Amino acid sequence: MKIERELFRKFEKIVGEEHISDAEVARVCHAYDATKQRAMPDVVMWPYSTQEVSQILQLANERRIPVYPVGAASGMTGGALPVYGGISLNMNRMNKIIEIDKANMISAVEPGVIVAAFQNEVERLGLFYPPDPASNKFATMGGSVAECSGGLRGVKYGVTKDYVIALEVVLPTGEIIQTGSKALKSVTGYDLTKLFIGSEGTLGIFTRIVVKLIPLPEKIETILASFKSINNATDTVSSIIASKIVPRALEFIDEEAIKAVRLYKGSGVMKQTKAMLLIEIDGSPETVRRDAVRIMNICKNNKAFVVRKAETEEEVDDLWSVRRSISPALYTISKGKINQDICVPRSNLTRMLNKISKIGTKHGVKIVNFGHAGDGNIHINILIDPSVPEEMRRAEDAVGDIFKETVNLGGTLSGEHGIGNTKSKYLSLEVKPRELKLMKDIKNLLDPNGILNPGKIFDTTN
Ligand SMILES: Cc1cc2nc3c(=O)[nH]c(=O)nc-3n(C[C@H](O)[C@H](O)[C@H](O)COP(=O)(O)OP(=O)(O)OC[C@H]3O[C@@H](n4cnc5c(N)ncnc54)[C@H](O)[C@@H]3O)c2cc1C
Repeated sequence: MKIERELFRKFEKIVGEEHISDAEVARVCHAYDATKQRAMPDVVMWPYSTQEVSQILQLANERRIPVYPVGAASGMTGGALPVYGGISLNMNRMNKIIEIDKANMISAVEPGVIVAAFQNEVERLGLFYPPDPASNKFATMGGSVAECSGGLRGVKYGVTKDYVIALEVVLPTGEIIQTGSKALKSVTGYDLTKLFIGSEGTLGIFTRIVVKLIPLPEKIETILASFKSINNATDTVSSIIASKIVPRALEFIDEEAIKAVRLYKGSGVMKQTKAMLLIEIDGSPETVRRDAVRIMNICKNNKAFVVRKAETEEEVDDLWSVRRSISPALYTISKGKINQDICVPRSNLTRMLNKISKIGTKHGVKIVNFGHAGDGNIHINILIDPSVPEEMRRAEDAVGDIFKETVNLGGTLSGEHGIGNTKSKYLSLEVKPRELKLMKDIKNLLDPNGILNPGKIFDTTN
């Protein structure tokens, strides 16, 4: 799609000539996200205010131009990709922390604020914003609300939707609406805030986000346990939860991921390790001390052959470095990977991991698993050479089987990365026709001309 000069000038009038570009360099910079797909926008705009976003959407809606909101483009499912061209609307200039209200423990931010920068700011005041996608050093608040990001601490503290209490949203028609309130409780009418959280930039553009905060925990302990069998590790997860301890992180890493990390950084992980758990607990110093001892005993009772508690900041870093290195390490053993983030009820974790292993064997593909075992959210990585079509086909078949088994076990296609365009063809495996129609009706009601992030969530290929 070409944006004619006359229309370009109208957009330029709204955002200012320095904040609109159809130069190739700007367009290429907005043609990718973390999925490594490629789709070029026709023009990029960097709005500065709600009014500018509103005017852009109004004009785009009149002219039926697709608009794709973008934060840091770290999404894993193609959410920010301009698959039908049109406008990439980069929200990074709207990056102010508007208010931190200590008395009410709430904060209002613009969407372009980086998650970790916000977390650091509130932590200086003894407050805590728990949602922590591993991408928090670059992901934006807007992108994380649109994806309802999770992260390591989800098992204890929940995900983004558990913290967002109000939103300012610009609808695809350009109308500006306010949802929710600054009050922590509100049952006035339908919960529109929740409708927009996780809507993947398809229903409206957030220009102001209000979140609740909680007190910063006083003490944190980190424990690593190594096992000679996957089942021992997953049984440990169940035993910890059954003992009524809820860790703030309970991460699972399988043998293939450990091998990749060993190759990548020569880590000191022992060769006989088939699975590892990284466990982090927080709270008052007395509770944390007591629970650390209980957790270490549970690990030993489930045949952990190494149980280590970090004693210094450096050791904490060292223990977490294994987990953080997995993604880059996988590229040392494979040219590419297909990444999925299914989530099953915690009690079905062992069964699901066994199913995944069988599916890998059936389709002749290597699958590496790690992730947030505490909430049943597994990051599945199918290792592939993207230049070999036959390998890609087998990997896609494996994905289809994995999704079917996930749904059979009461799980969901995505725990935190969303549907985007990479999973839209599988949506109907989980969402039944009536509910799917309702979702499409909501989309059509808010976006009658289908200009906001078209090509996402719903399958447009048939
Ligand atoms: C190394 C790595 C680790 C990751 N770890 C995690 C993890 O642990 N947990 C997790 O949940 N995710 C994780 N992710 C995925 C991703 O980082 C998150 O989904 C993140 O919240 C996306 O933020 P972003 O600013 O990059 O959004 P983008 O990728 O730019 O956009 C994501 C979606 O949000 C929409 N959007 C952006 N801004 C707005 C706005 N203002 N209003 C409305 N819609 C908007 C876009 O259109 C798109 O659909 C990871 C990604 C990487 C690369």
